[in-house]
Amino acid sequence: MIKKVSTAIVGGGIIGMTIALELALRDIDSMIIDEPTSSKTTAAAAGMIAPISEAVFNEGTLIKPNLHAQQLWSVLADRLTELTGNESSLSNIPSLLIAKTKDDKAIIDNLVNYYEQCNLKIEKLSNLQCGDVLAGLTPNFNSGALLLSDYFVEPLKELHLIETAYRKLGGEITNSTATSLDINLSQITLSNNDIIEAKDIVLATGNSGAEILGQKYASKLQVIKVKGQIMTLKLNETAIKLERVLRGFVKGTPVYLVPRSGDELVVGATQEYTGFEIGNTVEGLFNLIEPAISLFPSLRDAEIKSIGHGFRPGTVDNIAYIGRIASTNIICAFGHYRHGVLQAPLTAEIVADEIQGESNQFVEIFSPNRADLTQSV
Ligand SMILES: Cc1cc2nc3c(=O)[nH]c(=O)nc-3n(C[C@H](O)[C@H](O)[C@H](O)COP(=O)(O)OP(=O)(O)OC[C@H]3O[C@@H](n4cnc5c(N)ncnc54)[C@H](O)[C@@H]3O)c2cc1C
Repeated sequence: MIKKVSTAIVGGGIIGMTIALELALRDIDSMIIDEPTSSKTTAAAAGMIAPISEAVFNEGTLIKPNLHAQQLWSVLADRLTELTGNESSLSNIPSLLIAKTKDDKAIIDNLVNYYEQCNLKIEKLSNLQCGDVLAGLTPNFNSGALLLSDYFVEPLKELHLIETAYRKLGGEITNSTATSLDINLSQITLSNNDIIEAKDIVLATGNSGAEILGQKYASKLQVIKVKGQIMTLKLNETAIKLERVLRGFVKGTPVYLVPRSGDELVVGATQEYTGFEIGNTVEGLFNLIEPAISLFPSLRDAEIKSIGHGFRPGTVDNIAYIGRIASTNIICAFGHYRHGVLQAPLTAEIVADEIQGESNQFVEIFSPNRADLTQSV
């Protein structure tokens, strides 16, 4: 059976789903094809919408698009509430950055200087002020700052809301694997042998990247899997609750604590270039627990609800591939590395603009054609 659709989106993680919703809002007919038993990186994400704390020295190009992405999240959250009748989990309480030791203070002083040079909105706080903005913070630390544009969401809640909104607008999701793709015919073959023919095909395939296009493309548009271990804890009833994202450095180790509903919080995350090595390790979890407790001591009695890990879909320059492969019907939307949740509405905007033939200020930065694809065609 050949089914025709205007846009086929391979992948139903936060990226594919947000693109689909944006297309539906622009009255563009689409279909999502998502593996039935998929383990989505989106499920492992902490959910920080963090254009400031994710700004690192060699990724200056991403600051402007990430700030724009953060603003788009507020628009998306309002739309989700309107379309589904349920509140988005987006919280716009700014995150707190803390240095535990004197050496950690040197690290965050450097970061804060950089943020200021980049005109990112931060506020240096005295230790007393840090304690005032975050009940439960350890009294033993060196310095702190508020990151005024860094917010958070619960990724799986948002994914569910986005899916609900997309379905309400008539969107279709097929739980099947896309096994092959014919660029010339613009057709995707599914594992159940159905064929989807589309004017545009979007690859929102996360860690699978351009694999479906074959080795020539996959090797140029390479996705580098960066493992992150993470754990979900539940604070006991009498413990002080975490009300904002707490990021910090403890003896040089970075750690973050992100609130979840129901007195839970997520502690993350390691960054390991170990390839596709599945599972949690004692060292990985130790490197989360020890610094987390030293910043937020009431975690000592918290219940471990789950441990988990995921693979950030990185690229050689840490910038996602978003946009059309020149002279084809293929639009890339993968390789979001540490920023997939933050950049989901931005990706949706770029992809939808591309499909509608409209210009977008960020096309060049994310274009897949920055990898020399000419020999792949
Ligand atoms: C520990 C950890 C913490 C993180 N924290 C944050 C954070 O705080 N903030 C942030 O912005 N980002 C964060 N990230 C990064 C973020 O999670 C990812 O960038 C994002 O989830 C990528 O989303 P995606 O939709 O591209 O991929 P995925 O969620 O993996 O979705 C891709 C989907 O495509 C499907 N698929 C692939 N190939 C096929 C095929 N051939 N046929 C059908 N379906 C296919 C997969 O099965 C999957 O369902 C974190 C990542 C990790 C690991």
